[in-house]
Amino acid sequence: MTTMRAAVLREMGAPAPYEQSRPLVIESVRLQPPGPGEVLVRIQAAGLCHSDLSVIDGSRPRPLPMLLGHEAAGEVVETGAGVASLAVGDRVVFSFVPMCGHCGPCACGRPVLCEPGAAANASGSLLGGALRLRDAGDAPLHHHLGVSGFAEYAVVSERSAVRVDADLPPRIAALFGCAVMTGVGAVVNTAGVLPGQSVAVFGLGGVGLSSVLGAAAASAWPLVAIDVVPEKLALARELGASHCIDARAGDVAAAVREATGGGVDYAIETAGSERVLATAYAATKRGGTTVTVGLPAPDRAFSVPAVSLVAEERTVKGSYMGSAVPQRDIPRYIALHRAGRLPVERLLTHTLALDQINEGFDRLARGEAIRQVVLFD
Ligand SMILES: [Zn+2]
Ligand SMILES: [Zn+2]
Repeated sequence: MTTMRAAVLREMGAPAPYEQSRPLVIESVRLQPPGPGEVLVRIQAAGLCHSDLSVIDGSRPRPLPMLLGHEAAGEVVETGAGVASLAVGDRVVFSFVPMCGHCGPCACGRPVLCEPGAAANASGSLLGGALRLRDAGDAPLHHHLGVSGFAEYAVVSERSAVRVDADLPPRIAALFGCAVMTGVGAVVNTAGVLPGQSVAVFGLGGVGLSSVLGAAAASAWPLVAIDVVPEKLALARELGASHCIDARAGDVAAAVREATGGGVDYAIETAGSERVLATAYAATKRGGTTVTVGLPAPDRAFSVPAVSLVAEERTVKGSYMGSAVPQRDIPRYIALHRAGRLPVERLLTHTLALDQINEGFDRLARGEAIRQVVLFD
């Protein structure tokens, strides 16, 4: 049994600022040893993502109490029975959908849709159903997306981890687990952008700016970036955007069409808003594709003129976790990063200690940070 410090969420919907309401409580938590097919990982770095914030504010409910965090990197320190793919000393990045490898979607090469993986994530357990976390009163805590990275250690299914180069700094490695896998994957996997095709990215958080990086690496042109924060637009331009549009200034879809001579081949929506999604759809050209990556609240609906799907051959596609095959994609994206083609370090704006995590979520909610990473040690 490992005893460790961890950030636990016991109630959703606490009022902001979180600096005062402190929804994440730093507790002493006990972690059972890894079971069959599981590994114990010493967490080195864990990123703060909007999907964590959506659990904190209650817009994406999860079973409580829960140890949050799903974008992290660390070192394997113990392996359970039968673990074949990882060994003690391996550096890993987590994938926030575990993949069983055997269900229908896994067999079809679409592991982000893994059925046992989705069931485990919905119930707040590890793949296979285990709950390895106990609080000081010996009550079980739920796992967040099979990871629970806001803690000194994690027990995860080996199918939630991808081995990475040992010399990659953990604060950078962590970003590949959510922001980069999701944002770059939306461009190269879900959209399938080719050189010279036009792309517009709506929303410039960690995922959206990763989509800008992915589109630049794929030689998209023109490459349009849209947000309401001037600093984020300026960063997008440095990362390769050819046009930057302030979403507060007038008709955004018209501005995108004007910048691209009639609309984009691919609009990538990362804001998690059905209104932004409608604007993204309107910004595509005839025959264009809208890819949606953001997670709106469950009661939100999106409508389009139905005839436009047929008469203009438009497409709307959802993209979960960048339609990734994590064991394939994370090493590829890391190789691109090492070659200077995916400068993901530009997304890292803050590093924090674990007990500063509530202040970090205030910064994220106010749009004052891109990626913030909790560092352990
Ligand atoms: Zn995330
Ligand atoms: Zn599966």
